[in-house]
Amino acid sequence: MIDLRPPGAVRWICRKLEEAGHDTWAVGGAVRDALAQRPSGDWDLATAAPPDRVRRIFRRTVPIGIDHGTVGVIAGDGVMYEVTTFRRDIETTGRHAVVAFAETVDEDLARRDFTINAVAWHPLRKVIHDPYDGMADLERRVLRTVGDPEERFAEDYLRVLRALRFAGVFRLQVDEATWRALVAAVPHLDVLSPERVREEMEKILAGQEAPSAALALYAASGVLAHRYSDLDHLVGCPAEDRRGDLWSHALRTVDLLPPHRPAIRWAALLAGVGVPEDGGDPTEAPGRRGLLRTAALLERLRSSNARIQRVAGLVEFVRHPPNPEASDAELRRWLAGVGREKLSDLVRIWIAELRADELLGDGEGWDRADLGRLVERLRATARAPVALTVDELAFSGRDLIQMGYRPGPRFGELLRALLDRVLEEPELNEREVLAEEAERWMAAREKEAE
Ligand code: ATP
Ligand code: MG
Repeated sequence: MIDLRPPGAVRWICRKLEEAGHDTWAVGGAVRDALAQRPSGDWDLATAAPPDRVRRIFRRTVPIGIDHGTVGVIAGDGVMYEVTTFRRDIETTGRHAVVAFAETVDEDLARRDFTINAVAWHPLRKVIHDPYDGMADLERRVLRTVGDPEERFAEDYLRVLRALRFAGVFRLQVDEATWRALVAAVPHLDVLSPERVREEMEKILAGQEAPSAALALYAASGVLAHRYSDLDHLVGCPAEDRRGDLWSHALRTVDLLPPHRPAIRWAALLAGVGVPEDGGDPTEAPGRRGLLRTAALLERLRSSNARIQRVAGLVEFVRHPPNPEASDAELRRWLAGVGREKLSDLVRIWIAELRADELLGDGEGWDRADLGRLVERLRATARAPVALTVDELAFSGRDLIQMGYRPGPRFGELLRALLDRVLEEPELNEREVLAEEAERWMAAREKEAE
């Protein structure tokens, strides 16, 4: 007997189904996590009862995936538990499966991907059912497919990415035959929808565990070269003034950032993608290349626009901080170009990069004292009541109209010119002063036009 101490509701659901005569087991990630003595996520149940029976047995249910046999049961604790009818695959295509309901838990376990994910536990009898020795693999720290690895990857190529994630997160060695089949399957990842590929990466980046182990396996398996070529360029790419290559530096940095901020981890991972391999185009604005590559990569993965903007907006500036010796005016200009709202995210990444440098050994990327001073000055600038945007000027288009000018594209140009002056000399940000400045600007403009 093994007690995995699930929430009480898991036993209650199981008892109701068993009393109605249906064999019911806890399966999947929660069983695996509990056996590994990690906090268990969602407890899923697998049952012989068909979905319509499940819906009749429980008062509060949600039809979350009736076609797949999944019914959400809302228990007394208010939590929804997924109860899925035993299934077997009838046909697979490499990206999805046609399933049929099955009679036995054995059939259901046979279609699961890895042995560690194919352990069933009975919440009432408290016994383990483990036909593929998943517990032993967990103990030995080995990741292995259920059955023939080549066949299993070909049924659903997402399993390639899942394998890398589980091996990374649980620190498992990928079994030799599984690894060989996995590497051979990488060229077929094209069949997967970008959304599923992205979700896998998001799970790695949002995980409590350091993402670097799984990411290193992405590189080692060829997945990086196949689906993330911009990142693959970082592997072995010497980091200008840093020890180690850009890739190992990115991995260290990502590990040092908090998991609940995946956008920041994305930005730290992608920070190097704008580093030119060829010395770069001197006419290109610094950061532009990183921004474009990041946006293109995230677009290919069908990320949301909000996510793309946020991450690309950080990548654009993360490698282009102001000089720690810069004047106050230069700092204001830099911050005006970046936007105040990005400063705290950038600072987090810089600090993580600094610590990554230190961990990688006498790196020369960031100097701790320089960074400290720079951050302090930038924070003070961001907090100070100085105008950094056109909207923060003490003078607006409305004032121009009142002065008798007719609205047009000139307005924007003028306001930007005024901001430029104010960034240089913040004390000029007074309505009357700027009004005079505006008149002079307009007069010069009209003279030019003559
Ligand atoms: P996590 O939730 O941390 O990703 P998990 O193991 O719970 O891990 P889920 O995607 O929630 O993963 O799936 C639950 C279970 O369903 C898995 O443990 C596995 O048994 C099975 N499973 C999920 N996806 C697949 C797949 N692509 N092929 C085979 N079995 C799968
Ligand atoms: Mg899960």
